[in-house]
Amino acid sequence: MQAVTNGARPLVLVVEDEAALVTMLRYNLEKQGYRVDEAGDGQEALTRIAETQPDLVLLDWMLPVMSGIEVCRQIRRGSATRDLPVIMVTARAEDQDAVRGLNTGADDYITKPFNMEALLARVRALLRRAAPTPLKEKLAFHDMQMDLVTHRVQRNGRSLHLGPTEFRLLAFFLQHPHRVFSREELLDAVWGPDIHVEPRTVDVHIRRLRKSINAEGELDLVRTVRAAGYALDTDAA
Ligand code: CA
Repeated sequence: MQAVTNGARPLVLVVEDEAALVTMLRYNLEKQGYRVDEAGDGQEALTRIAETQPDLVLLDWMLPVMSGIEVCRQIRRGSATRDLPVIMVTARAEDQDAVRGLNTGADDYITKPFNMEALLARVRALLRRAAPTPLKEKLAFHDMQMDLVTHRVQRNGRSLHLGPTEFRLLAFFLQHPHRVFSREELLDAVWGPDIHVEPRTVDVHIRRLRKSINAEGELDLVRTVRAAGYALDTDAA
């Protein structure tokens, strides 16, 4: 098994109230090159996550103070932690519980007593999957270009002037051309999950975006899909 050697060593938070298991997990994770942090109950887990921003959480289901399920729920609710990889460690073998764990937002689960190699393989797989893909600096669609570094947007050779929200909206569309997003999805992605605004706010900004990017006689690149939402598309009608 190959140890992690390149770049920053990922930080794994072990949330577990059995001291012997924590010691064993720490030993094996550190041997793989990971950094390890610990929390002995659910509340402490949330505090550690906020303080140290781990790359992955190994989360025991049965915990004092707050259950693993509740911790997982809160992780998924937080805007800074919603994508944090979580492996639920459960003593319950029942499929029902595993499904419940995954429904709560865990990315994977493993049943106690677990094989250490199997656990490490899951940690590795999940960290690899979660590794951020480098953000493209330049986005393009049809006759439109956006430079995320200089914030310049052009269509058909002319510069477009967008408000900050329209800019973020267009950047998001350019990252997922042709895909239809509901108002709620756009609110989540562009405004953020913690911002509470009316879904019709999206319509207002879509209108502004259209006005900014479509010149007279030009193809409307924003497609309205009735009862579904909006997409960046050349087939706007
Ligand atoms: Ca436990």
